[in-house]
Amino acid sequence: MPNDRHDLIVIGAGSGGVAAARRAAAHGAKVLIAEADRVGGTCVIRGCVPKKLMMYAAEFARTLHEADGFGWSEVGGRFEMHRWADAKAAEIARLEGVYRKLLADSGVALVAGRAMLNGGGGVRIGDRLCHAPRVLVATGGAPAFDAFAGLDTAMTSNEVLELRRVPPTLLVIGGGYVACEFASILAGLGARVTLAFRDTLPLRGFDADLRRRLAQALERRGVVLAGGVAMRALQRDEHGFELQRTDGSVLRAAAALNATGRRPNTAGMGLESLGVRLDARGAVEVDADSRSSVPGLWAIGDVTHRVNLTPVAIAEGRAFADTEFGRRPTRVDHRTVASAVFTDPPLATVGLTEDDAVARGPVDVYESEFRPMKTAFAGGAERTYMKLVVDGLDERVLGVHMIGADAPEIVQSLAVALTCGATKRDFDRTIAVHPTAAEEFVLMREPVRRHGHAARESAV
Ligand code: FAD
Repeated sequence: MPNDRHDLIVIGAGSGGVAAARRAAAHGAKVLIAEADRVGGTCVIRGCVPKKLMMYAAEFARTLHEADGFGWSEVGGRFEMHRWADAKAAEIARLEGVYRKLLADSGVALVAGRAMLNGGGGVRIGDRLCHAPRVLVATGGAPAFDAFAGLDTAMTSNEVLELRRVPPTLLVIGGGYVACEFASILAGLGARVTLAFRDTLPLRGFDADLRRRLAQALERRGVVLAGGVAMRALQRDEHGFELQRTDGSVLRAAAALNATGRRPNTAGMGLESLGVRLDARGAVEVDADSRSSVPGLWAIGDVTHRVNLTPVAIAEGRAFADTEFGRRPTRVDHRTVASAVFTDPPLATVGLTEDDAVARGPVDVYESEFRPMKTAFAGGAERTYMKLVVDGLDERVLGVHMIGADAPEIVQSLAVALTCGATKRDFDRTIAVHPTAAEEFVLMREPVRRHGHAARESAV
């Protein structure tokens, strides 16, 4: 009979839960983690990692094409998705093993099963009842189906990542980053893709110049953009899928992907009966230290619907563990979180969009747009675009935005500068690495637009 008293019980062994459990154990806590599915969570099993492996597969379409321009002959071939799927499954199994080993080596007890809150620090996992003075909910999220009728007949990102052959035609429903990524990837793998979304441009919330250029890039890749119209229903029959839109138009394809968003995993866990406050979409409401409304219960990661990204879930998990077990009070700053969209070309962003910055005060905007050396040499038309959004008063760089090859890698490095509060002058005195695309970020001399200066001058 195991001693089922612990210092901490973590529910969910995804990115955030594993990070919190390991950090708390490193501080000397006795930790149990419960997982209902595979260890590693969304990111490792059915999110970031398999998606990026699929993106790499799709990237070869461009690489093979470009190789010809560089003098290689007889390149080409056929994509056999089942071979990719087998290799991907093996890699994910390997990574799951790594996660299991990390937990075991940290001294964290892993229990398989769906956890339910029992009140008073009690957590039921199957027929086992465990107790801890601190319980951390890190149950993540799952695809949502409630935007309109019939969405439950389509694939979600879970099933797309399990495909063993490329569908001839695919309807991707949604305009967020997951929708754009799969539209781009599946088009690269040979599917004829239609991207259906409500807004006029995909990627709401991103800088408008990136959104416009991504739309053009997707179209160049052969993706049909069906935006600007709301959707009414999805129907499935023996021929495939039919998406009915509110303007009376109908879109058809052999396969459909529901990428309309995700919902926090909070249903059926006993949260409501304990009095844990949830928001309108079912996310656990937490304060800046990830405390829920009920003492002894914390929540981190996607289940709190703050910034739904893996590194954020990890940072929140570690901040919780350092604060509660390491006597090192730590909070996560959600303001300057860099993020990337793995389309072809990819885009990445950190800090304020131009529109958001302009709403706050005077802003100078610097831009650079060019055909990258490799693409130009191979005869490609694709362009790279970079933008710096700079505070018009103190020259602090408020936002960095890029669409083009290597954007995620470049913006990750610049996110350090932004976190440190770098100014445009700091960028100017940085010597370039040549020849690179990234050097353009330190070679932008004159603003292309200045916002809000006239208003300030007339007020002085
Ligand atoms: P999760 O990783 O979802 O883990 C939650 C775990 O809890 C799961 O393993 C689940 O099985 C378990 N669980 C749920 N309920 C219970 C219960 N009652 N009892 C026991 N266990 C339970 N983020 C990025 O930063 N970059 C990307 O490129 C990126 N790409 C993505 C692509 C896709 C297709 C998707 C869907 C997501 C992507 N994300 C990406 C988001 C990222 O995966 C999540 O932000 C991250 O996984 C959140 O971690 P988490 O710990 O909060 O939850």
